[in-house]
Amino acid sequence: MRVVLMGPPGAGKGTQAKRLVERFGMAHLSSGDILRAERAAGTELGEKLKSYMDAGELVPDEIVVEIMAGAVAKQDPQKGLLLDGFPRTIIQAEALDEQLDRLGLPLEAVLIIEADESLLVERITGRRSCPSCGRVYHVKNIPPAKEDICDACGVKLIQREDDTETVVRQRLTAYRSQTEPVIEYYAAGGRKMIKLDGAEPLEEVAEQAAEALGLSG
Ligand code: ADP
Ligand code: ZN
Repeated sequence: MRVVLMGPPGAGKGTQAKRLVERFGMAHLSSGDILRAERAAGTELGEKLKSYMDAGELVPDEIVVEIMAGAVAKQDPQKGLLLDGFPRTIIQAEALDEQLDRLGLPLEAVLIIEADESLLVERITGRRSCPSCGRVYHVKNIPPAKEDICDACGVKLIQREDDTETVVRQRLTAYRSQTEPVIEYYAAGGRKMIKLDGAEPLEEVAEQAAEALGLSG
């Protein structure tokens, strides 16, 4: 199964992606994670990425397309692919289609998780994570036992650089103007479109996603 997962920041893409790949074993490629890893490596390219990402702007297409095409090429596409956060522009979507068509393995479905703007902002600005194990918390909804400390590691939690309210608003603007048109692009191309309500409980959304994709187990 080759699937693209779309949705505004805070809709729960990352969480659902993790569940889907744990259950069904496809390869998970998160452009956000891949770009953050490149940043963490402290390369010249990483420095360049930082200026866009910390401002909540999209990284230019030519950079993202090159990085993601390389990541896709490393996978065994027969095993299935879950693309999370990519493509985010029509140019990226066209590049991905070309690459997958060349492999004879086109996308089979597009999953879209939606939610109201107020909910998205509340979720993201309250999000904290553990720098050591990566576990994600929320100051109100999923608080750690001891304020600001990871339950598992006892390490102080951190907030992502781009999870502040101003930057979140910018990320939402980028989503509405540059990424929503990608939904139209796929719909017009006759893809199987699956819309999910990101305000529902995580379990619920995961169940609906699996069912709509025709996966079970
Ligand atoms: P979210 O979806 O919650 O905004 P991500 O972790 O997916 O967060 O992305 C974080 C940032 O990484 C984005 O704001 C953007 O700067 C950059 N980014 C990720 N994927 C792409 C992409 N496909 N094209 C351009 N920029 C991207
Ligand atoms: Zn931890």
